[in-house]
Amino acid sequence: MILVGIGSNLSGKAGSPIETVKESLRAMQTRGMTILTCSDFYDTPPVGPSGQGHYVNAVVRLGSVIGPHGLLRELQTIENQFGRQRSVKWGARTLDLDVLDWHGHLVHGRLNLPHPEISRRGFVLRPLMDVAPEWRHPETGLSVRALWNRLSVTERLKIMKL
Ligand code: ADP
Ligand code: MG
Repeated sequence: MILVGIGSNLSGKAGSPIETVKESLRAMQTRGMTILTCSDFYDTPPVGPSGQGHYVNAVVRLGSVIGPHGLLRELQTIENQFGRQRSVKWGARTLDLDVLDWHGHLVHGRLNLPHPEISRRGFVLRPLMDVAPEWRHPETGLSVRALWNRLSVTERLKIMKL
């Protein structure tokens, strides 16, 4: 299955972060991607440099025939359309689109699959549970629920359904 993580914590052309996430779904469809399922939207505290606003996060399951590198390129084009500036690592952004998994393939290089941060990020695991409760990490074999349950209670309580 193909899984994409979406995040926004800055207003942009499309409006607020929530509007930006919604518009990004339309943009993916416009570019020929089929959205099979979309998670709920979550309000999550920022990871990385302090002083940024909370994020809106979601995960979608795509039914696209595009390969993983092509998919990343398409997603980066959409990020740029929404006015994404690449400056500070993990800094505030209007739109972040990450390939979380592409049919369980392991890729290392300019593109890393599965996305190396999945297991540590509550803001990915919680929406991932909505769209793919049966998903298992391609390297460790751990289920999404097992990964979620490994996070501290404090960490989990910070992820709020919108
Ligand atoms: P992050 O998403 O970790 O906050 P960025 O969105 O700025 O950071 O991505 C940094 C780089 O990571 C991008 O230039 C992109 O090419 C690369 N990258 C590697 N693997 C992936 C992946 N699976 N999904 C998205 N970007 C990836
Ligand atoms: Mg990214």
